[in-house]
Amino acid sequence: MFEPLLDRHRRPLRDLRISVTDRCNFRCTYCMPRDVFGPNYAFMDRRELLTFEEITRLAAVFRGLGIEKVRLTGGEPTLRRDLDRLVRMLAGLPGLDLTLTTNGSTLEGLAEPLASAGLKRVTVSLDSLDDAVFAKMNDANFPVARVLAGIEAAAKAGLRPIKVNCVVNRRINLGGVLDLARQFRGTPHVMRFIEFMDVGTTNGWRMDDVVPSRELIALIGKEWPIEPVEAGYPGEVAARWRYRDGSGEIGFISSVTQPFCRACNRARLSADGRLFTCLFGVQGHDLRGPLRAGASDAALADVIREAWRRRDDRYSELRSAETAGLPKIEMSFIGG
Ligand code: SAM
Ligand code: SF4
Ligand code: SF4
Repeated sequence: MFEPLLDRHRRPLRDLRISVTDRCNFRCTYCMPRDVFGPNYAFMDRRELLTFEEITRLAAVFRGLGIEKVRLTGGEPTLRRDLDRLVRMLAGLPGLDLTLTTNGSTLEGLAEPLASAGLKRVTVSLDSLDDAVFAKMNDANFPVARVLAGIEAAAKAGLRPIKVNCVVNRRINLGGVLDLARQFRGTPHVMRFIEFMDVGTTNGWRMDDVVPSRELIALIGKEWPIEPVEAGYPGEVAARWRYRDGSGEIGFISSVTQPFCRACNRARLSADGRLFTCLFGVQGHDLRGPLRAGASDAALADVIREAWRRRDDRYSELRSAETAGLPKIEMSFIGG
């Protein structure tokens, strides 16, 4: 239907992540360590945030440029008040696949209203089934049971299949990987293990803490034989595997050991309206300025088109000990 918008490496623009807040009720060590994101941290002022009307207008412009999928994220997107109203507005844009990534803390009560508003699916982050290890990862003292209840509520509300994301850190939660796999084996939900990435500059990333996916594939495969499945669509970031005994699927996201920049078709819109063409970007392209100055849809499309055409990003392919220390935007700002 659309002529794809291609960047310098002929990668089409297909997928848009929209951060609706930079705030979060968790302080995951790998994303918002509390010593940096403490009580004195200056989060965005309300006036800096794009309004729901502004987000929807930009999403429509992106849709016109070939976006097929929108994922709402953050920070913790469910902290943004009246999120269901935004979902209803975005669901009004024809042909968009609309999803959400959440830490699951408020999902039990929100799953139904969000599904009714037009949300199609959710991805829930869950790094351990053990309360003590979970707390070590997210520094939030939040019971695992409430996240599990959120997943159940989401399934009941029809937000299926649910993807469950776990960032694996060798020193903290590697020991619980089999428990997580077991929990979702035999369900329609897909457990996915993510390599700990050097996003931002605050999470103390060290290669020693990264558990390569191939190690997890061997660990899980020893317990329950698994085999690879074809990618569902071009640019899919998770390598899909399935249990040989028919107990469902499992996924591995190997952004560190097997970078997928070559197929990266994803743009990110920060909560204050900046367009990032890479998770490891620094500045972003301001869209809020022109939007609030009265730019037409065509003019906004031109800014996006130009940014995407000039895009040369492939950070993960170039990653090294040196690049880990370069200035980069924080994950809580543009939402993974
Ligand atoms: N707060 C929501 C959540 O946690 O799902 C949405 C935003 S969060 C930034 C989006 C995703 O990024 C989560 O699945 C999280 O696990 C992942 N993430 C954050 N920091 C990461 C890191 N350093 N390496 C790999 N994944 C990370
Ligand atoms: Fe919050 Fe999600 Fe980042 Fe954890 S990963 S601190 S839940 S935004
Ligand atoms: Fe895409 Fe940048 Fe990640 Fe590469 S490093 S996959 S270009 S977001």
